[in-house]
Amino acid sequence: MTSLDLTGKVAFVTGGTRGIGFAIAEALVASGARVAISGRDAGRAAEASRRLGGGAVGVACDVADEAQVDTAIAAIEAGLGGIDILVNNAGVTRDNILLRLDGAAWDEVLDTNLKGAFHTSRAVIKGMMKRRNGRIINISSIVGLIGNKGQANYAASKAGLIGFTKAIAREYASRGITANCVAPGYIETDMTNALPEDARKALLDSIALGRLGQPADIAGAVLYLASDLAAYVTGQVLVVDGGMTM
Ligand code: NDP
Repeated sequence: MTSLDLTGKVAFVTGGTRGIGFAIAEALVASGARVAISGRDAGRAAEASRRLGGGAVGVACDVADEAQVDTAIAAIEAGLGGIDILVNNAGVTRDNILLRLDGAAWDEVLDTNLKGAFHTSRAVIKGMMKRRNGRIINISSIVGLIGNKGQANYAASKAGLIGFTKAIAREYASRGITANCVAPGYIETDMTNALPEDARKALLDSIALGRLGQPADIAGAVLYLASDLAAYVTGQVLVVDGGMTM
């Protein structure tokens, strides 16, 4: 019998201290998984893990830093057991039009959003191969599919994540590992809260379901992809945008 029950599974959600990552962690905990979350600051990670309750641990780890990722993943695996579900959610924006986009803003976004997923995926893949089971879920964006003015670096990182996901989906399918993306539309979090009222109204007009997304909307899609229900789904991009792009 297939279900959303994740009892006995260990999950690692990068950037789980708030926003979408925190909602994903909450959903995984509610489904019975033992969950580790990360953020760049140890205090924030510990505080968020406390809010998730007894089954969760918080680790400090900048995903752009390969050595920090390796240390964090070794600590999680020693404490909770081998990671069955990896959710690459940590992400940043440094928006500017191409003319004014400097190399530092390009590198920061690519290093966090794309290279971070490379670091974590490479660190967990051996264990997943050994256990012949694993789920890698990468949080992309509709911006990676359709682009967005002022976000060339962010769009490149999110489109890159889709190619990365499809490549590893092919490489590790025979080992029982699936890799998929979720591409959120416009979700209400710290990342998006600075939107002026007129822009918000224009945005709402473009969303078929007539509302902005909530972090829990993304968590539902991740939970599905993490569960047995999605055992035959790999290399896909699940768009969760209220019908904004279709
Ligand atoms: P938030 O800004 O609310 O949260 C970002 C999270 O990422 C925080 O937990 C932050 O932790 C963590 N983080 C940032 N940089 C790093 C890093 N270098 N290493 C480790 N953790 C890091 O963002 P959202 O919740 O809105 O976004 C989550 C993901 O969803 C991102 O990948 C984003 O691109 C994607 N997304 C969001 C959309 C939206 O509309 N909100 C739309 C489409 C995609 P801390 O600050 O504690 O280090």
